[in-house]
Amino acid sequence: MKCKICGNKAVIKLRAHNIALCEKDYIAFFEKRVLKTIRKYRMFDKDHKILVAVSGGKDSLSIWELLLSRGFNAVGLYIDLGIENYSEDSKSKCINFAKDKNAELEIANVKEYFNGLSIPEIARYVRRKTCSVCGLIKRYIMNRRALEGGYDVLVTGHNLDDEVSTLFGNMIHWQVEYLARQFPVLEKNHDKMVKKVKPFVTSTEREVAAYALMKGIDYMEKECPFSIGATSLFYKRLLNELEEKQPGSKLRFLNGFYENSGIFQTFRKELKLRACERCGYPTTETVCSFCRLRERIGNIVEKSEDRL
Ligand code: SF4
Ligand code: ZN
Repeated sequence: MKCKICGNKAVIKLRAHNIALCEKDYIAFFEKRVLKTIRKYRMFDKDHKILVAVSGGKDSLSIWELLLSRGFNAVGLYIDLGIENYSEDSKSKCINFAKDKNAELEIANVKEYFNGLSIPEIARYVRRKTCSVCGLIKRYIMNRRALEGGYDVLVTGHNLDDEVSTLFGNMIHWQVEYLARQFPVLEKNHDKMVKKVKPFVTSTEREVAAYALMKGIDYMEKECPFSIGATSLFYKRLLNELEEKQPGSKLRFLNGFYENSGIFQTFRKELKLRACERCGYPTTETVCSFCRLRERIGNIVEKSEDRL
């Protein structure tokens, strides 16, 4: 197998693109495609102050690596979730990466907002699914830290597989309102909401993993223990079977959806956002769900302390 560009020995074959490439040409090919996506969806440019949400995994460290190596002004944000045997290791990966690249890393800790409780403890206290509590808290902290730090845009490492599995889930359940909002760019639509973008939406998980490996990124291979059994993983397996039989189908599915996303816009309900009475960040209610969660936790902790 020879590299289609230089004729040297190829190290990766991309059936979706009908191409085999050596390491050097793969890195160039991969980065060029990501930069094209950034330009196509007008995500950001070199004048912008960028905050990259990093978890220590291959996707987020790879996008940070790519942006730094291409001269973007990109700072990392790690959120410590307090998940045993996972958070400590993933935090070290981010700290080591930042040191190695001489890059700036901000660290936020969920415990600082919730009376010293970790994500699994909060979920247990309020009897809700861990991932739903985690998602709510992460979204709030990412947005708030981005605004407080004066960043123009928040970057996440969601890849093509993540986006296609979300799309697939929304389609089979006909979640038309979610379909109307699914896009690689979420524009700022409130003065306390930062623009959010996903530059890896056209790169598969395998392509990102190959990039991380070739660039020598020391990322966290272990997955979060709460991701085991997630429906999204089941969808990803189904979609990989489809990709195996019809290479390029994941990319065609997603691109076709973006090109035709106008179809779903009639289902879009314009959310009336206002400032949360407690924190001032946007919400559709009087008090935002993050502040309500904090209050519930505060009450529960106070009650249990009363019993002591
Ligand atoms: Fe949070 Fe769930 Fe993701 Fe773990 S798998 S980081 S608990 S959302
Ligand atoms: Zn609030």
